[in-house]
Amino acid sequence: MNRNGSRIVIDMSWFLNSLRHCFIPLWRFVGSVLGSKSKDVVLSIEYYCCDRPNPLLQIIYLVIISFTYYFVAKSSFPYIPGYYLSEIHWYLSLEAVAIGILLFLLTSFSDPGTITADNVTHYLSAYPYDNIIFSEKECSTCKIPKPARSKHCSICKRCVARFDHHCGWMNNCIGERNTRYFMAFLLWHFLLCLYGTVAIALILAGRLKELKVVYILTVYYGIEKTLWDLAPHVVQWLLGSYNTQILLMVFLAIISMLLFGFFGYHAKLCLSNTTTNETFKWQDYMELQRKVKEAKASAAALRQSISGLSNERKPSVSKWRSFFRRSPLEDVVVVKNNVYDKGFIHNIHEVVSPLSTRTSFTQSKFKSS
Ligand SMILES: [Zn+2]
Ligand SMILES: [Zn+2]
Repeated sequence: MNRNGSRIVIDMSWFLNSLRHCFIPLWRFVGSVLGSKSKDVVLSIEYYCCDRPNPLLQIIYLVIISFTYYFVAKSSFPYIPGYYLSEIHWYLSLEAVAIGILLFLLTSFSDPGTITADNVTHYLSAYPYDNIIFSEKECSTCKIPKPARSKHCSICKRCVARFDHHCGWMNNCIGERNTRYFMAFLLWHFLLCLYGTVAIALILAGRLKELKVVYILTVYYGIEKTLWDLAPHVVQWLLGSYNTQILLMVFLAIISMLLFGFFGYHAKLCLSNTTTNETFKWQDYMELQRKVKEAKASAAALRQSISGLSNERKPSVSKWRSFFRRSPLEDVVVVKNNVYDKGFIHNIHEVVSPLSTRTSFTQSKFKSS
C-alpha cells in the first residue's frame, strides 16, 4: 500500500483532505475572480478549516449520529416490541448511542500526551532512541528536546508523546494517552452500527412473520415455497413497505464495515507497537535502505561482470544458466527492527495503560527531578 493509500485507511480525516484537494483549485479560482481582498478571505477560510484546530468534523459527527438515531427511532421503534425484539432495545439502543458519544468526547477532549518544558524529562525516559527512525534532537518550534516516538503536530502546534496522527473528527491528536479511547471509540461504533443493522433486520424479519407474508404469497398468490421463488417477492414487498428501514440498514452496514477496517488497521498497529506516524517513517527508511542496498548490489554485479570480461581464460557460463541466474537485486532484503515491539501482550498493555500514567513512571519522575 502506498503512502497516500495508507493515510486513507488510517483515519476518516482523509475525507477533509480529499475535499480540500478537490476544492482548492476551484476555491482559489473563485478568489482570483473576486479580487485580492476576497482572495485573502478565501485563503483565511481555507487556513481555518484545514490547517487549524476546528470543530467542523466534530459537529458533522454529532449531526450524523443524532440524525441516524432519530431516523432509526422514528422508523423502527413503533415495531418494538416485535416478534424478535423486546422493548428493552428502546433503552439499550439509547444507552449504546450515549456511550458512543461519551467515548467521542473522551477522545476529543483528553490529553493525547502533550509534551511541555516541565514534563519533557519524564517523557524522555519513557522510550529510548532507536537511532533508526528516532534520534536525539530538538523540536525547532517548541525549543524542547524531542522524546523518541513523539512528533510536533503542525495543526495543534504542540509536541505529542507516542504521536499517532492528528484526527480531524476528534479535533485532537491521537497520542500516548488517548490511543486507548480512540480504539474504544472505533470498536464501539463498529459494534453500534452492527447492532443497528442486525436490529433493523430482525424488525423486518419480525414484520414478515407477524403479517404472514410468506403464507399470503404462497397460499393466495400461488408462489412456490422455495427461497429462490419467494425472495424477489419478499424483497419487493420490503422495498415498497419499509424503504426507510432498508436504507438505514444499508447505511449502517456500510459504516460498520468501514469502521471494522479502521479498527482492524489500528489494532494491527497496536499489536506490533507501531504508530501511524512510525509506519510512514519506516516506509521512508525501508525505501532508502532498499535503494542503498540495490545500488551496492548493482555495483558489485558490475564489478563482477567487468572482471569476467577481462579474464578470457575463465570458462563461459552457458546462456541458459545465465538466463536463470538470480539477479543480485533479488537478494536485497531490508529488515525492520522495531525496538518498541515487545510482544503483543506487552504492547496491548502499553496502549491500555500508557507508560506516563503508570505509578512506576511517576515515581521515576520524582526521583529524576
Ligand atoms: Zn514541538
Ligand atoms: Zn494535533
